[in-house]
Amino acid sequence: AAQEGFDPEDVEGAIGEAGHGPLPALAIVGRPNVGKSTLVNRIIGRREAVVQDKPGVTRDRVSYEAEWAGRRFKVVDTGGWEQDVLGLDASVAAQAEYAIETADAVVFVVDSTVGATDTDEAVVKLLRRSGKPVVLCANKVDGQSGEADATALWSLGLGQPHPVSSLHGRGTGDMLDAVLEALPEAPAQSFGTALGGPRRIALIGRPNVGKSSLLNKVANEDRVVVNEQAGTTRDPVDELITLGGITWKFIDTAGIRRRVHLQEGADYYASLRTAAAVEKAEVAVILIDSSESISVQDQRIITMAVEAGRAIVVAFNKWDTLDEERRYYLEREIETELAQVAWAPRVNVSALTGRHMEKLVPAIETALEGWETRVPTGRLNAFLGEIVASHPHPIRGGKQPRILFGTQAGTKPPRFVLFASGFLEHGYRRFVERRLREEFGFEGTPIHISVRVRE
Ligand code: GDP
Ligand code: GDP
Repeated sequence: AAQEGFDPEDVEGAIGEAGHGPLPALAIVGRPNVGKSTLVNRIIGRREAVVQDKPGVTRDRVSYEAEWAGRRFKVVDTGGWEQDVLGLDASVAAQAEYAIETADAVVFVVDSTVGATDTDEAVVKLLRRSGKPVVLCANKVDGQSGEADATALWSLGLGQPHPVSSLHGRGTGDMLDAVLEALPEAPAQSFGTALGGPRRIALIGRPNVGKSSLLNKVANEDRVVVNEQAGTTRDPVDELITLGGITWKFIDTAGIRRRVHLQEGADYYASLRTAAAVEKAEVAVILIDSSESISVQDQRIITMAVEAGRAIVVAFNKWDTLDEERRYYLEREIETELAQVAWAPRVNVSALTGRHMEKLVPAIETALEGWETRVPTGRLNAFLGEIVASHPHPIRGGKQPRILFGTQAGTKPPRFVLFASGFLEHGYRRFVERRLREEFGFEGTPIHISVRVRE
């Protein structure tokens, strides 16, 4: 009965909407004050200014969704972080590096009223070496008279400079046309499992939770194969590590091993790095220091991984330090603070003693399995039919919305589209998600549910 009123064309439409794959990513790179944030705002069509963000303030979101000429893409915003900590060149270089790691194409913004500086030239070198498509934005060309300044930027050797006024919108359309030409339809993800490569793990967590200790522990006990350098001039970024007889790719181990304990104000840099690792990974192993209270920063990192739609394992490290009392309070904290990932497999480990290291791999495998689970449409609808019969939506305003039909539009993470006869309340959606998990597993994975209302 759940299929009543089902129109296959609607399903097609909904899948097109909700089931889109990952979007290609565009990074905006350039020196401070060239107008990156202004440009980002212009591209994403947002009024509230990203510009107002204080440098050094941790921002959770580093990417936004945008659309131009009917194509959707992500804009990776690398602007606005503390340059004092690392120095101007290093901060801009790090930003470019991040963009190169995560983006499918780059917009390089130059202030045409200033012209090309040494820092600009240094970024050009990084960009060239990356091989990523680059669109050159000659910003602050507010009128005809600025066109000559833009032309001068041919000297950077990045091809045509696009004269733009991010402030007023002048020329942004032409530049975005060029961006769409440079941007692939889908993210490259050349390291994808489709190619049979090793599964990708991001080991994340706030400073001092024990990431590098854990990495050393697992790497020392097993053979370590060091990868070639991935486009940059520094230490290897990712490492292949064999665990439980399987080779895994640990993302950005250089960032973990380097152990640069950045000062305050550099949180944003750490958060960029974490976001970049999460973007590249399939599964995030989130490390929590069980000897300390679960913090806002822990939560923020978890939210980042959940929002990125990654498979998730939560590892409570430093288990060797716990006494009865701390253990008691930790369990209470987990219940209240970590409810958003109550579905994630949990391991209690000690990087120091090696406790329960062997449980890490099964937990990762469980999470990846949930992440890739596909429920056949027939089974899903039999299940939805049962829900509708046993737990109907509450009556609102004399009407009772009903789930008519559903389909799983995608995996990694699982995405569902439900067709309903009316608006489904948040609480009811949560209930459906909980029942889906009880019925089909989905351990260790976020689930997306979108609802389409049929008039
Ligand atoms: P960011 O540090 O690269 O993100 O630069 P912002 O977007 O914060 O811009 C720096 C300053 O340049 C701000 O005062 C902006 O209003 C100004 N600005 C940005 N784009 C333009 C533009 O196209 N023309 C002019 N005249 N000013 C601009
Ligand atoms: P990172 O900043 O997340 O890479 O953390 P580190 O691996 O540098 O660890 C921070 C501190 O915690 C170091 O002093 C480690 O020796 C200590 N540590 C890491 N794991 C454990 C553990 O399982 N038990 C104990 N007691 N200390 C640990």
